[in-house]
Amino acid sequence: MQFGPLTRLTDDEQMFVKEVDKFAATVVKPKVHEMDESEIMDKSVINGLFEMGLMGIEVPEEYGGAGGSFFMSILAIEALSKVDPSVGVLCDVQNTLVNNIFKRWANAEQKKKYFPRLSSKEIGSYCLTEANSGSDAFAMKARAYDEGSHWRLEGKKIFITNAKEANIFVVFANINPELGYKGITAFICERGMPGFSVGKKEVKLGIRASSTCEVILDNVKVPKENVIGEVGKGYKVSIETLNEGRIGIAAQMLGLAQGAHAGAMEYARQRVQFGKELREYQGIQFDLAELATNIEAAKLMVYNAARLKDAGQNFIKEAAMAKLFAGNVAEEVASRSLEVYGGYGFIKEFPAEKFYRDAKIGKLYEGTSNMQKATIFKLIDGQMK
Ligand SMILES: Cc1cc2nc3c(=O)[nH]c(=O)nc-3n(C[C@H](O)[C@H](O)[C@H](O)COP(=O)(O)OP(=O)(O)OC[C@H]3O[C@@H](n4cnc5c(N)ncnc54)[C@H](O)[C@@H]3O)c2cc1C
Repeated sequence: MQFGPLTRLTDDEQMFVKEVDKFAATVVKPKVHEMDESEIMDKSVINGLFEMGLMGIEVPEEYGGAGGSFFMSILAIEALSKVDPSVGVLCDVQNTLVNNIFKRWANAEQKKKYFPRLSSKEIGSYCLTEANSGSDAFAMKARAYDEGSHWRLEGKKIFITNAKEANIFVVFANINPELGYKGITAFICERGMPGFSVGKKEVKLGIRASSTCEVILDNVKVPKENVIGEVGKGYKVSIETLNEGRIGIAAQMLGLAQGAHAGAMEYARQRVQFGKELREYQGIQFDLAELATNIEAAKLMVYNAARLKDAGQNFIKEAAMAKLFAGNVAEEVASRSLEVYGGYGFIKEFPAEKFYRDAKIGKLYEGTSNMQKATIFKLIDGQMK
């Protein structure tokens, strides 16, 4: 498939982005500071995301979803993250991880049961990480025991995004550690199942409105029909969703960089020193021009990876490169944009310091920057396809 100019959007895509921008400006923006301070995602934001169809972008229309493309999810995450990367990741996890798992691996009954809920009112979480298994995710200790009539899950997951608000959890556990990664299986758990609970909520440097919690599995009785995909194939479910999900995080970082840069552009028009607006100084102009160039490069990489995925082509290398690069760009843009504000950049009243704090996560979750480099090297070295 041939692509047109990568950053050119179709009329439908442009209209979609305009709607998301409007939502971000009118519903999200007034709440950003308060949500960051209180570390609570406002209900009006969550409800608005559902009402706009942004929590089921790729869910087929027959199940109440918007029936859109993966690229549209990426555009939504980017647009939301320009205003608040916490809202960006809420939309990202729902669409690129949770819904994606259901779309690719759920059977007809599971789709019928969960898709209408996920697209209209219920948040989902993706539960892989444990205290001693982060990058080395398949070293997980969570166990699933076959009890004949049901599965019994035991263990503890940490750092689970959206867990405080979620009702539906895709949980990875091993049915037999002797099988190694081939024992890993994906299960659907629901809030309210006996033995299932959401534990400690982390206090964080950035994306503070996004909840990050423990998920405790204390002999949770999970119905047999809640295995998603095949028993022993959970490793495939987790790797393949993360391959796609990391384009979402790259989009989050791309949006963040644009939000930080736009703030600095605006400030440079307002602030007068030595009798001139900051934007009249070449030192400031060169900085803003260079950062805009880096953002454009990141955008090309993110859009390319997303469009490759929608075209059914191999995108793993491009996705890892996009995440690695967009994470670097976001951190640099957030840092140098903050400096344009001078001392005011350091003060919470201005948006720059939040973007700076939020940027750090892009290099850490859904595979650290080192893990992206490891994947990229394996691909360029021919060890992986
Ligand atoms: C805010 C937040 C939200 C998250 N949301 C979720 C979620 O929703 N679901 C979920 O399952 N997880 C989630 N995570 C977990 C996240 O994906 C992990 O934190 C991440 O994968 C890194 O794992 P770790 O923290 O254990 O670091 P480690 O794996 O211990 O890594 C520590 C350092 O060592 C480096 N390193 C490790 N191995 C190698 C190697 N082989 N070669 C070179 N360097 C290496 C890493 O790059 C890193 O710099 C979240 C984390 C955070 C902070």
